[in-house]
Amino acid sequence: MFEPRRIKHCRACGNPTTYRVPNDDNRERAVCGGCGEIHYENPINVVGTVPVWEDRVLLCRRNIEPRRGFWTLPAGFLELGESTAEGALRETDEEAGARIELQGLFTVLNVVRVGQVHFFYRAQLQDTGFNPGPETIEAQLFREDEIPWEEIAFRTVRDTLRHYFEDRRRGVFEVHVGDIS
Ligand SMILES: [Zn+2]
Repeated sequence: MFEPRRIKHCRACGNPTTYRVPNDDNRERAVCGGCGEIHYENPINVVGTVPVWEDRVLLCRRNIEPRRGFWTLPAGFLELGESTAEGALRETDEEAGARIELQGLFTVLNVVRVGQVHFFYRAQLQDTGFNPGPETIEAQLFREDEIPWEEIAFRTVRDTLRHYFEDRRRGVFEVHVGDIS
């Protein structure tokens, strides 16, 4: 089970926290020794897209760690105040500078080991003029037989790409839910 134990100090008063099971709870939380504040930690949402132009998919080469120099689909952490679709659009703009029309939800992938859930939407590119942001070295379109499978940054991206090409061959796009071990 995932146990991050990463909160060392209280977000309310700054005193040290200890991990213990609060009353009426069933798992350990970071509890403040000063004010008693209980800090809940929950999985983080990662949102992204599979941007497509004709028979090609847009990938971004990462300019940041982890996996700098490896290829990824545009994706990042969902922010407060936005829906998963809005976050996916924003990340695609920030990382690739790509104009897209968002299509259906495509993959929902649990990465329990690191406490994350990844959501990828299919997306139709509106043109091929990209303007990558500082987190991206380059943005490039790939046909299926050109995908650099050995240089894909993350399992969730690899699985999403495999599902995409499989569904495209069958001519039916479904929602794929899976667990990454
Ligand atoms: Zn406190």
